[in-house]
This record gives sequence, structure tokens and C-alpha cells, in this order.
Amino acid sequence: MAQAAGAPRPGAAQPHVFKLVLLGSGSVGKSSLALRYVKDDFRSILPTVGCAFFTKVVDLGAASLKFEIWDTAGQEKYHSVCHLYFRGANAALLVYDITSKESFLKAQQWLRDLERDFSPGEVVVMLVGNKTDLGAEREVTFEEGKEFAESQHLLFMEASAKTNHQVTEVFSAIGWELLRRAEREQRPAPRGDARLALGQGPAGRAKCCAR
Ligand code: GDP
Ligand code: MG
Repeated sequence: MAQAAGAPRPGAAQPHVFKLVLLGSGSVGKSSLALRYVKDDFRSILPTVGCAFFTKVVDLGAASLKFEIWDTAGQEKYHSVCHLYFRGANAALLVYDITSKESFLKAQQWLRDLERDFSPGEVVVMLVGNKTDLGAEREVTFEEGKEFAESQHLLFMEASAKTNHQVTEVFSAIGWELLRRAEREQRPAPRGDARLALGQGPAGRAKCCAR
């Protein structure tokens, strides 16, 4: 019988589960990125009721993992996403719209909020410039996004939920980084550096930039 897409192989070990939260201003395309990634679908009008929660098993070839993707219910409009939303998060997708400078500046504010709840390096953060299909209306250059991401040690990519440009790549890059960190934390620390064994080492966020 055929396997459902994304389902684990029979007999395979249970995949690691990681909580990923979506952050950014209203209308930047957070829900659309999740919908595209999880259901390979795109709609110009999305329902805003309720707090959406998606799960997806990701096969990265050498390993697989499960994402619990938390989407907001529109409360980002008031910049009032609660602490419960952040709690236990392993990764965050910090989204802005490349046609809106304001949304880029807001993303920087969201990062500060995130840093209030987490210590540096505790959460894998990827900055995503969405809506690359609207290049003619661009207000934020690729270089501006990349520079900000590098200055804050964030992963960075541009994508389009509409045309499905680099959506899978965004989530896969986060997946790889999460697995890399999980592996590093399981490894015994070199003598004289007990910090690494406790997962309290320096941030060490990987760099990843793609247009
Ligand atoms: P959210 O408020 O951040 O969750 O944003 P939504 O996912 O609801 O998207 C807001 C609007 O932007 C909707 O009309 C979407 O159809 C549109 N949208 C989302 N992603 C893209 C994209 O990549 N390109 C274009 N052109 N429109 C998009
Ligand atoms: Mg939404």
C-alpha cells in the first residue's frame, strides 16, 4: 500500500519533534507559507479565526523530523502574541514582506520580543523575505535582509508562498540546523568545556543565505 506523503517509514525510529512558531506583521504571508509547505496550496483569502496548528514529518534523507508549526490568529496586528505561544519553541520563522519596508522593521521588533523570552542561540531563527513574485514592488533589497540576518546570526532566505519559490528550502534549512544542534548536544563535551554538554555554548547559529 502506498505511504502517505511525509509519513515515517515503517520500522523507522520516531522522528524528533520540534516546535516552530511563525512571527511577523499581519499580511506578510505567514499562514500562506505554512499552507504552501504543509498542504502545497495557496489562497488569496485565508480564514483568520482560531490559532492554527500544523504538523508535518520531514524526510531529510539521512534523518527525519516532525515539525509542529504554530500560526497566529491575527493577534500580531496588536503586537500581542502571548508567552504561551513562544513557550517551548525550538525554531522561529521571522517573516516580512519584501514589498513592505515597515514589515521589515517590524520583524526586527519581533526578534527583540523573542530575545526577551529566550537566551541567545536557544532558538533557531530564520528571517524570511516573502513575496519574491512581487519583485517590481520591492522595498527591501536582498542585501538589506541578508545584512540584518548576518548581524543577528540568523538564517536567511527569500521565498514566495504564491509561486512556491524556496518554501520547502526554508523549512529544510531550519530542520538541518535543528538536527545539527540536537546532535551536538548529545555528543560528549571535550574535556575542560562542560558548557557544551549542557547545550549552553555560544550561539553558533549557522549562516545560510539564498535568493
Ligand atoms: P499573514 O497575516 O502573515 O498570515 O498573511 P497571509 O498568509 O494571510 O497572507 C496575506 C495576503 O498576502 C494574502 O492575500 C495572501 O494571498 C498574500 N500572500 C501571501 N504570500 C504571498 C506571496 O508569496 N506572494 C503574493 N503575491 N502574495 C502573497
Ligand atoms: Mg495568518
